[in-house]
Order: sequence, then C-alpha cells, then structure tokens
Amino acid sequence: MALQGKVALVTGAASGIGEQTARKLAADGAAVVIADLNIANAQKVADSIVEAGGKAIAVAMDVTSEDAVNAGIEDAVAKLGGIDVLVSNAGIQIVAPIEEYAYADWKKMLAIHLDGAFLTTKAAIKHMYASGKGGSIIYMGSVHSHEASKLKSAYVTAKHGLLGLARVVAKEGGPRGVRANVVCPGFVRTPLVEKQIPEQAQALGISEADVVKNVMLKETVDGEFTTVADVANTVAFLAGFESNALTGQSIVVSHGWFMQ
Ligand code: NAD
Repeated sequence: MALQGKVALVTGAASGIGEQTARKLAADGAAVVIADLNIANAQKVADSIVEAGGKAIAVAMDVTSEDAVNAGIEDAVAKLGGIDVLVSNAGIQIVAPIEEYAYADWKKMLAIHLDGAFLTTKAAIKHMYASGKGGSIIYMGSVHSHEASKLKSAYVTAKHGLLGLARVVAKEGGPRGVRANVVCPGFVRTPLVEKQIPEQAQALGISEADVVKNVMLKETVDGEFTTVADVANTVAFLAGFESNALTGQSIVVSHGWFMQ
C-alpha cells in the first residue's frame, strides 16, 4: 500500500490506460479521482473500485476547458482533502496525411493533449505547493514522444511537447517537492488503438493484420503489444517514488520499440 493516504487524480480514467492506472493506484492505497469527459463511464469505474474496497470518486472534466478543469480539481480537493498525484492521461488520436490533416483536427489534438496537460498541472500544482508535501505529476506520453510515424503529425507534435512541459515543471516544482515525469507506452490495445487499425489500413493501402505486424509492432523485440497493466505499473512506480532523484525523465514501456 505504497500510496496509502494519498489522493490521485487521473484524467481520461473512464477507459483504457487511464482506467487501469486508476485501478492500480487505488489498489496501492490511494483515493482516486476518475476524471473524464464521459461521466457515465467514469462513475462506473469509480463504483467498481469502491465495490472492490477502494476509495474513488468520479468527476466530470473536459480537459480542454479551463473552467471545467478548475471546477473538477476544486471538487476533488474539497471531497478528498488535497491532491498528491496527477496523471494527465486523457487523449485521442486522429490520423491523416499532413496535406489532408484538417486544421480543426490539429487544434483539437493539441488542445486535448497539451492544453489539457497545462491546465490540469496549473490547477493541481498549487494544491501540492500549499500542502507542503509536494507531489508527483505524470504525463501520458508515448513512444511518439521520441519517434515519429506517418499520418500522426499532431499526435507526435503533442507527445514531444509533453517532454518539454515535464522538464519545466520538474525545474519549477523541484524545490517544493513536486516531481514531473512522462510515461511513454508503445501500442496498447485500447479503444484508441482499435479505432486506428482499420483507419491506418485504409490510409496506407495494406491489410489490418499488416498494420498490426508491420506498422505497430514491427520494431518491438518480440512482436507483443504493451498492456494497460504494464503502463499502470510504471505510473504507480513514479507516483510512489518519494525523492527528486527521479524527475524530468521519460520512461519508455514499449517492448523495446524505442530504446533510449
Ligand atoms: P482510450 O480511448 O481508451 O481512453 C481515453 C479516455 O480519455 C476516454 O475515457 C475519453 O473519454 C477520455 N477523453 C477524451 N477526450 C477527453 C477530454 N477532452 N477531457 C477528458 N477526458 C477525455 O485511450 P487510451 O489508449 O487509454 O489512451 C490514454 C492515453 O494514453 C492517451 O493520452 C494516449 O495518447 C496515450 N497512449 C496510448 C497508447 C495506446 O497504444 N493505446 C500508446 C501510447 C500513449
């Protein structure tokens, strides 16, 4: 129970990586805030954590809205007494070649991935400072924080941007005990990836099996997908790491797709 007594807020926690991360942080003893655009699913995740003996609440939050982020974080702090861990995880994917990439889609991608990370950090860090205990901020990056792939101009740009944000937050937060790191998963079979397989097959003119084998998993050491549990365990390790020795870093969890 490494996180006993801590409060952890996870954005995009109604599905996929965020959901498994919230479950793992709750299993490690944290009271978790399931923050998501999809409040119905967020409530279901919170209820099932509570049924399993954990502590969880659901909060409606569109991470691209400053008012919604501030209200969700204030609500969580009022109900649970503070915030010790922020996992900025909410994200979507839109793939297209750059000459066809709609400007509106580019702006939407940067708003969810980058504005969301900025707004949640800004709202949460002041509580970490005020408590005198500091905290841990973890951004959900990607192998695409380090590597590029065709069709993903906005995603690769945003995920690279998170490295810069984490390094600044590590420098500003360090003297007050706030750490900031980026977790960089390879492909994980969540709804976000299931949607991409047929889209990429069509855009690249290859079969769906070839997208999986020759695009998504080609560079891994063993042809395996990373799992939600692999990512959640990495986040939990960072959430429970209690010194500034590990800050401003990115940890790649990708079956060796990218080695740094
Ligand atoms: P997912 O689609 O399973 O879950 C994403 C969640 O984010 C959903 O519950 C959705 O409602 C929520 N969300 C979307 N827009 C939101 C908004 N504006 N405000 C609040 N919540 C919002 O996706 P996932 O695969 O679990 O992805 C989670 C994160 O992991 C993303 O940042 C993604 O880029 C990253 N990631 C995923 C993979 C992968 O292979 N699945 C790999 C590397 C990184």
